[in-house]
Amino acid sequence: MTDFVTRFAPSPTGRLHLGHAASAFHVWEAARQAGGKVLLRIEDIDQGRCKPEYTDAILEDLAWLGFEWDSGVRIQSEHFVEYDSVVEYLTSLGLTYRCFRSRSDIAAEQAKAGLPPGTPFAGQPLPPEEEARRMNEGASYTWRLSLEKCREYLGAGYHQLAFDLVTPEGHHEIIKARPDLHGDINLTRKDSPTAYHVACTHDDALQNITHVIRGNDLAEAAHIHVLIQKLMGWPQPVYTHHALVMGPDGKRLAKRFASQSIAALRADGLSADQVRRMAGV
Ligand code: GLU
Repeated sequence: MTDFVTRFAPSPTGRLHLGHAASAFHVWEAARQAGGKVLLRIEDIDQGRCKPEYTDAILEDLAWLGFEWDSGVRIQSEHFVEYDSVVEYLTSLGLTYRCFRSRSDIAAEQAKAGLPPGTPFAGQPLPPEEEARRMNEGASYTWRLSLEKCREYLGAGYHQLAFDLVTPEGHHEIIKARPDLHGDINLTRKDSPTAYHVACTHDDALQNITHVIRGNDLAEAAHIHVLIQKLMGWPQPVYTHHALVMGPDGKRLAKRFASQSIAALRADGLSADQVRRMAGV
């Protein structure tokens, strides 16, 4: 057994589909080749969309596909207090501020200023009286990580941020991290007590994940995750981003392709091996 520890981290917003199965195959295959282990983590921080019955169904489908995970499934919704402490720590370093703007407020302001859509957002804390007034009114807000403050705090270290990438073909690359392209990062959400980037990096550190293997739809997240890891003093895993399975229309496979859910394929009499071939891995 090497010290290779990876994880499979689905969000239980629906039944497991072929895209998840492909991702799971990549994760378990990498662990098998390295003689390492896979941990299972249920990323159910979005309590509006995630449902416990989907978690049960995911475990059942994974077991049917033949995957085995190390004991103990981490359920993120049981650990909000731990994610809060990350935001509190970053706040104690002076790196965060309360942001009262919604995404559409930001888009509208940027359009008014003649900025192209998607321009990275950089904000400032409100003056204390104004902030207190909004808080009294019960206005909703998110905690954002100020990249300007992070640059000041880390100095040269900010510009040296980089991560190890292993391509699916096994080539090693060092990628310079570009958190700036993402703007100030939301650490909480209006509809959830924490945000993906916080819960994910916290758990990758807690679970001693050495290798993160996930779809290339999340390739950009690594640029943000290495910044949070640096600020928190957490180790950096190695990243691999695999191709996504495409639906019959050439678009990313989405959960609405209900007929492609693992449960439906199993009900149609397909074997786990056949599902694996359909997933293209
Ligand atoms: N929960 C994410 C998803 O289902 C995966 C996040 C990750 O692997 O970091 O897409």
